[in-house]
Amino acid sequence: MKSLKFAVLPGDGIGPEVMEVTLEILGKVLSDEGYSIDATHAPVGGAAIDQAGEALPESTVKICEDSDAILFGSVGGPKWESLPPAQQPERASLLPLRKHFQLFANIRPGLLYPELVAASPLKTERIPDGIDMVCIRELTGGIYFGQPKERRDLDDGDVEALDTMVYKKSEIERIAEVAAQTALARGKRVCSVDKANVLTTSVLWREVVTAFFAEKYPEIELSHMYVDNAAMQLARDPNQFDVLLTENMFGDILSDEMGIVCGSLGMLCSASLGLGTNSLGNPFGLYEPAGGTAPDIAGLGVANPCAQILSGAMMLRFSFGLNDIANRIEQAIKETVQAGTRTGDIAFGLESVNTRTMADAILSRL
Ligand code: NAD
Repeated sequence: MKSLKFAVLPGDGIGPEVMEVTLEILGKVLSDEGYSIDATHAPVGGAAIDQAGEALPESTVKICEDSDAILFGSVGGPKWESLPPAQQPERASLLPLRKHFQLFANIRPGLLYPELVAASPLKTERIPDGIDMVCIRELTGGIYFGQPKERRDLDDGDVEALDTMVYKKSEIERIAEVAAQTALARGKRVCSVDKANVLTTSVLWREVVTAFFAEKYPEIELSHMYVDNAAMQLARDPNQFDVLLTENMFGDILSDEMGIVCGSLGMLCSASLGLGTNSLGNPFGLYEPAGGTAPDIAGLGVANPCAQILSGAMMLRFSFGLNDIANRIEQAIKETVQAGTRTGDIAFGLESVNTRTMADAILSRL
């Protein structure tokens, strides 16, 4: 029996609750196909602060290094909010993990089933068939990491602060490749978002993306859009996009906008792929729900497990090359939601079920 080796970092709040049923579902579908799970649990975030005094203990990093992928829950919560910013769970665990594993490509599907259009703040007539798009965000470059990044006192008593936005051609090309691969598996359309009318980095971005697609992927329809227009277009007609490709800060903002347009956070998953390959020759990646630890419902057993399960399906697809099994999981979730079995966040007048019942309904369709 082939074994899948991955690190499990449940984190805080609803993280452990949705992770538990996710592992059960992955275990079931994998064993049906002749695979077993070799998962090592490790503390992260607030749970790790409580256990080991720091949000990302060295032992957790080691477990991740020895694995082929990381399945991440979510971190943070009121208990740790009074800590200094640099020690807070999200900043002190997720960001260093992204940096350590050079997770440069964030892939976030914006998927809203037609049955759940009421979850979107958009008018139903704008999205009668739901939404189906993907945002590809560059994750390790741009203004969040560029140097110098500092605050300084000026001689005249004033104060100034600066961040530096910097991109290399090679960084742009490698994220364009992820967008191209994503588009080839979908509608073969990429919209690259920048601010080339103002920013020098964006001029280079547009130049490199244009040349890259013309040379390597002429079969993909490439368009460009300024970021301010993209923010409007996402709220006006999200389905005009197939694959949206953008840099770090624009992607941070636009992918959150896409998330809200697509309704409940409980349905949205993501993958962050690294530079390196794992022991199977596939991309190493970190897979996590788009939402946080949902302190308002943590411990009640009512969280929607779909985002975590869908993150697990993405892990099977990208880091283990098990596309068919990932498809089976996604299909089971779709059928469950369509049949009307729903947690509170997506119930909309239907009777809501708890995490356990939702997981059982998905299991029964596998
Ligand atoms: P949140 O995403 O945790 O919750 C926002 C709303 O969405 C809440 O009403 C919550 O109940 C709901 N929600 C989220 N996921 C859900 C699910 N699976 N099922 C049902 N409802 C769900 O955002 P927040 O309240 O701003 O943040 C709470 C904590 O999470 C904070 O400490 C924040 O720092 C942290 N956080 C962590 C991550 C991460 O680990 N990647 C991301 C975002 C926020």
